[in-house]
Parts: sequence; C-alpha cells; structure tokens
Amino acid sequence: MRINFRIRRYNPESTEHKKPYWQEFTVDNVEATDRVLEVLHRIKWEQDGSLSFRRSCSGGICGSDAMRINGRNRLACKILVRDVVEDGGTIQVEPILGLPILKDLIVDMEPFFAHYREVMPYFVNNDPVPEDGRERLQSSEDREVFDDTTNCILCAACTASCPSFWANGKYVGPAAIVQAHRFIFDSRDQAAQERLDILGEENGVWRCRTIFNCTPACPREISVTRAIGEVKLAIQRGSTEGIIHPDTIPAKQGHH
Ligand code: SF4
Repeated sequence: MRINFRIRRYNPESTEHKKPYWQEFTVDNVEATDRVLEVLHRIKWEQDGSLSFRRSCSGGICGSDAMRINGRNRLACKILVRDVVEDGGTIQVEPILGLPILKDLIVDMEPFFAHYREVMPYFVNNDPVPEDGRERLQSSEDREVFDDTTNCILCAACTASCPSFWANGKYVGPAAIVQAHRFIFDSRDQAAQERLDILGEENGVWRCRTIFNCTPACPREISVTRAIGEVKLAIQRGSTEGIIHPDTIPAKQGHH
C-alpha cells in the first residue's frame, strides 16, 4: 500500500515556523497490518529524523504513544493501518489535546500526573502487617468491584478527549478519577473518605458532564464514565457501601 500521512509538527526552536503546522509524507510498501507506530518509525528513519513522538513498549502496555489519529485518541502501537485508512488514503496524526505541546507529537504530561498525584493513588492501610507475613487477604468478590480500574495504564487518552478538561485544566480529569476509584472501592484500603473529599471539591468529579468521550477513547476498554459515576454516587451517599456489586459489572470481550 501507499499511505499518506498528515502530521502536526511543532518545534519551539524553529525560526521558520513559530506555530504548529501540518506536514505531509508519503510512505510506500506499507502493509495493511502494519501498526501506525511502525509507519511513524519509517517516516522518522527514512524521511525526517527530526520527527518526534513518544513510544516505549510498543505493546499497548506503557501508554506512552497516545496520540490523536484521524481525530480520535488512540495508542499508535495498537492501531493497524487497515483500521484507519485504505490504499492511497491519508492518516492524520496530531498530539493529544489539552496538554502543552513540547515538540511535534510530544506533550508535557506533568499537568496530567499532577492531577494523578492529587487523588492519593496508592494503597493506605495503617493496621499492622499480618503477623504470619501473608498479604492482606481479600475475597474474589471484593477484588472484582475494582478490577476494571486496575487496568489503567495512565496513557491520558481519556483525559485528553474530555471537553471539560480542555475547557478547564484544573479539572482532575477522567484518568485521575479512574485511579482514585481503584483504591476507593478496595475493601482493604482505609483512605476512601479522604479521596472522596478531594474529588468532591470544585475541580473534582462534578466537573464531569457525562459527555462519554472518555470511555471509547480508553485503549484498555475501561468503563471510564461508569467509574466516574460510581465515585459521584459514593460522594453523594457519603459511603462506598452497596454501590458496586460484582454481578452488575458488565463482562468485556477480550478483557483480561
Ligand atoms: S482510563 Fe484508559 S484512557 Fe484513561 S489513562 Fe487509563 S488506560 Fe488511558
């Protein structure tokens, strides 16, 4: 296949282009089953070594190559060429929205991780460690209620697809709420109320307008909007009790 790429470029050190601009590339001998990330590599290696983008594991786990491909947030390593274009067509690639662009497809993730840190994304339990040295045990039913949100890889595809976040970067955003959810509904954790207090504040969950962009953006198929709704309900009730029952969690195809 022959594929055209339209890529959003930006170099803060450029004297020629002061603002982001579009650049087009044509790549031959592309396989329909090539991943978009592989073709971006070919452009970088064969045509323009200055093209900059993040990538690491190339396997959909590290979450570093989230970008806007044909108008949708996706991981470039998980999207096949045939998923987004036919022979002779054009793939448009730009950085995810709502975060400052550092260079080309690379955005500054620090505001995103600052919100992540705000929600206490770590296990809190001040009881003494069990004397027999075993882990703090939990039933499989209790584990199931937050299983979905353990799958987050912090790629930012959800937060960067959220119009509420675009409008106000102080909003913690969907990813931080997903990360908080993972601990709020963990029966072994003891800081749920602190997290609910943080998320009940002005820039917490109530800035979510349930637009649903986040759920289809998630490469891990996490029910992001549902998780946000469960946190909202827990804040309203002042309790996590009875909000999620394992039987009500929808099964997912191909979900592990
Ligand atoms: S919830 Fe999904 S889209 Fe959002 S950061 Fe986590 S993995 Fe990425």
